[in-house]
Amino acid sequence: MPLTAKRPARWSWRALLPWGVGVVPLLCGLAVMRWQTDQELQADSLATAKEVASHIEEILDSLATTAHRLLPKAGQPCDEVQLELRIELTRNAFVRSTNLFDHNRLYCTSLYGDFDEPVNARDYTNGQLWLMNGNSVTPGHALLVYRASQQEHGDRGAITTVDGRHLLTALHLIGADNQVKVHVGNHWIGSDGQVHNGKPPVAAIAATQYASTRYPFDVHAGYDVGKRAALMRSRYPALLSLLLILGVAAGASCRWQIRRASSSRSELDRALDAEEFLPYFQPVVRKGDYRWAGVEVLMRWQHPREGLVRPDLFIPYAEHSGQIVAMTRSLMLRTAQTLAPHAALLEDGFHIGINITADHCRDLGLLDDCQTFLQHFPPGRVVLTLELTERKLIEPTPVTLDLFEKLHAMGVMIALDDFGTGQSSLNYLRQFNVDYLKIDQSFVAMIGGDALSQHILDTIIELSAKLALGIVAEGVETEVQRDYLARHGVDFQQGYLFARPMPASELLLALAAPVAATRSP
Ligand code: C2E
Ligand code: CA
Ligand code: CA
Repeated sequence: MPLTAKRPARWSWRALLPWGVGVVPLLCGLAVMRWQTDQELQADSLATAKEVASHIEEILDSLATTAHRLLPKAGQPCDEVQLELRIELTRNAFVRSTNLFDHNRLYCTSLYGDFDEPVNARDYTNGQLWLMNGNSVTPGHALLVYRASQQEHGDRGAITTVDGRHLLTALHLIGADNQVKVHVGNHWIGSDGQVHNGKPPVAAIAATQYASTRYPFDVHAGYDVGKRAALMRSRYPALLSLLLILGVAAGASCRWQIRRASSSRSELDRALDAEEFLPYFQPVVRKGDYRWAGVEVLMRWQHPREGLVRPDLFIPYAEHSGQIVAMTRSLMLRTAQTLAPHAALLEDGFHIGINITADHCRDLGLLDDCQTFLQHFPPGRVVLTLELTERKLIEPTPVTLDLFEKLHAMGVMIALDDFGTGQSSLNYLRQFNVDYLKIDQSFVAMIGGDALSQHILDTIIELSAKLALGIVAEGVETEVQRDYLARHGVDFQQGYLFARPMPASELLLALAAPVAATRSP
């Protein structure tokens, strides 16, 4: 069971990643919507609190006006002012009762006439307002009481009351879906119509408080938890659906990418195990007699279904996944095993070029690969040339410089491939002790073109001559190109004009044939 025991750990993050990728845009979108909704609720809440406060101020204005009109009557005998108290009631729709007090005792009311009950200024916030849980007439029924006292006699004055139902109407009509509470001193009233002691509880969402500037009360507003979700659902249904679709699409595309990557990787692993990567060989001819001085090894994939696959279709992926190192190692081994038994057909110093990627030069492992390769042949029979592309340069670290020094000591040569397409400096060429420059085929194709293109090619040839480096021209397809390069002293040429890349069997046949076969047309 060790195989099955290992799998879950490798699979877990791959299985979770698409979920993560899908959920992140969803969460970000929700966070933005939630923030916007909260801003909106906060503004609504404050507006509601202000509106309720202004309505209550209007009610209190009626109470205050009535109380102040009756103020001069306080202290006068009840039977003289009782009628006045009742007339005031008819004048104002909000006022439920009018009362007078003297020596801090309520002595006359609109309902009973003569009366006797203590009046304590401390019950009233700022000596002015009292939210009462009912009185002796209607116990348990909310009342808002306004007290006004004479300036010269503070213990004498008028009291007016309003039914709590007027407050409730404001709470229900203005703050219908809002948890509005009116707070006076140590009491508050909510939409249940009950007077409670203490401070009102803080709402879960968009809790706001607005204090009246004219009377000693404040209004608390806010919403319960469900309000935010309900508002988001009703306000952004299209956006929520879009987010959901985006999340699912992002998750699905991530899952597809992971599957594709893991299937490409495992497909290359499978091909490596099945030894499907083959060496093809393209001859490199020397100047003068155009005889084959060596070959470049070019990888081909003998795919069971697709047939022979070109390297540019799978090498970039193998380089990206790091599998190219194992693939090159296997290609080198296969090349050595194929050619070594026929080493007698090769002339001494026959060049074998292998394409190497930068990743292969990170440690000294390449040294072993080259050693193993060379050990297959009699000493001096072949010269191994490593072709490094100029498109992806190797960093000159102590390890790579050490590696190249040791490679040279072993007799391995270095060729800079696709020269002219990258940005290698002269310093770079010197540091890595490059032996050959392979002029990219795009420059060879310029031969016979306009003067400027030809000038670029001439400059590259001159440069390599000055640096005392060997030159190989790639992609020679015509005799005009061949002759031009020969005239300009290019040491080696490679291209369809001489031979196309061929399988080992064909190469060995050609090598075994009489000399003419390995000579240019
Ligand atoms: P490259 O190293 O520049 O190889 C030369 C390419 O030019 C080869 O293509 C070759 O077939 C093609 N060629 C040769 N003569 C002519 C010509 O006269 N005209 C034209 N149009 N093309 C010509 P191929 O074999 O398809 O390889 C393409 C690239 O794949 C190579 O370019 C090299 O960068 C990469 N590659 C091939 N094998 C390996 C390998 O074993 N390892 C690595 N890392 N890369 C490889
Ligand atoms: Ca090459
Ligand atoms: Ca090249």
